[in-house]
Amino acid sequence: MSALPNSIQARDVRYLLHPVTNARRHEETGPIVIESGDGIYVTDSDGRQYIEAMAGLWSVGVGFGEKRLADAAHRQMLKLPFYHSFSSKSNEPAILLAEKLVEISHERLQRVFFTNSGSEANDTVVKMIWYLNNARGKPQKKTFLSRLGAYHGITIASGSLTGLPTNHRDFDLPAIPVKHLTCPHYWRQGREGESEADFVDRLAQELEDVIAEAGADTIAAFIGEPLMGAGGVMPPPEGYWVRVQEICRRHDILIVADEVINGFGRLGTMFASDYYGIDPDVMVVSKQITSSYQPLAAILFSDEIYQGIADNTAKIGTFGHGFTASAHPVACAVGLENLAIIEENGLVANAKASGEVLQRELARFRSHPLVGEVRGVGLIAAVELVADKATKARFDPVGKAGAPLFGFGHEHGVIVRAIGDQIAFCPPMIIRPDEVVEMVARFERALTDTA
Ligand code: PLP
Repeated sequence: MSALPNSIQARDVRYLLHPVTNARRHEETGPIVIESGDGIYVTDSDGRQYIEAMAGLWSVGVGFGEKRLADAAHRQMLKLPFYHSFSSKSNEPAILLAEKLVEISHERLQRVFFTNSGSEANDTVVKMIWYLNNARGKPQKKTFLSRLGAYHGITIASGSLTGLPTNHRDFDLPAIPVKHLTCPHYWRQGREGESEADFVDRLAQELEDVIAEAGADTIAAFIGEPLMGAGGVMPPPEGYWVRVQEICRRHDILIVADEVINGFGRLGTMFASDYYGIDPDVMVVSKQITSSYQPLAAILFSDEIYQGIADNTAKIGTFGHGFTASAHPVACAVGLENLAIIEENGLVANAKASGEVLQRELARFRSHPLVGEVRGVGLIAAVELVADKATKARFDPVGKAGAPLFGFGHEHGVIVRAIGDQIAFCPPMIIRPDEVVEMVARFERALTDTA
């Protein structure tokens, strides 16, 4: 790192441990300090501008610098900057946002619990379902089914549900009863000569076998991102979710759709559950709920689950779970305004239209010698690089979170995300088709330099 000793970069290295970062490499490279953002662009402390092809961390749906969200936060801070929701206290933005979420989501989802992050939300889901099953007199029904390659967060329970080695290694995870099934990624996991339909049959059989072996009375829920995101943007094979859903319902296993990345239009439908025909018992949302202008997540769940929990509170006294900032009024006010912007500006339809351009533009790289697979739906996509197209040998064999691709695109004015050798795209949902073309052109220049 060439920065001066008292520069902002040097002080970052002096004081901070960064999340999901190689700390020793960071000491050498220093940070990119992002100072401001406007629309699909961000600018760093050296004045360099980038297209934010990842919407920050899959999250700034309405783009940077949206004044309506700043104003909503300002208004709410002056009126009521904070109040908690313990012991029957409430606040109006939380009530209105819960009502809105129920209105725009599936019929089955009738109740809401707020947390500050997706990880906390998934921890809460685990605890809610355990609590429910204890109350139902089924204390042995505790195991969660998840998938390899899944990302559900990093806290003790949500990190256990995550199916990625980097989030487990040396953290003593998984630490709750969880079984990870095969990653539903046909291109990597499909066997020689196996059709996509046969692959789905195999995954369905695996699910049946796991349930039969453990006993349905020990399995609480199946959790999944409808379209896997942080593990490398892996759309499921055709028909997969309908099969999973049918099997789980038959065995009294709850279905939890983790829409932390997928939710609020990313795939060109309001929720990815709509896109894949999933009718979940529980849905977790975050990120684009406020476009990450404020930390907020919500768990939407069925009235049946609510009634089971409520009955138990009558019996044992209280639902002893919640966070100081659950249903934070400023976060909820920003969430309400953000959902209004998504609706009024037609951002779900824009994600579909610009998403078609993104998928079409990226499809051009299928024939590139370094590209193994191009995949995605709507405004989320990945290009997986390979060392050898025929054998699908990994470009980054050690998988050190993009080590050979570290900083990929920065020189060319685009911020993508290198997940090992998979380059992810998830731009703000306001992106116009011509901006998509420019974003992909910058990616192409970076790829040419890598080759
Ligand atoms: N679930 C999914 C699907 C996610 O993609 C993420 C974060 O990327 C999380 C949960 C965890 O959310 P957070 O980082 O807010 O804890």
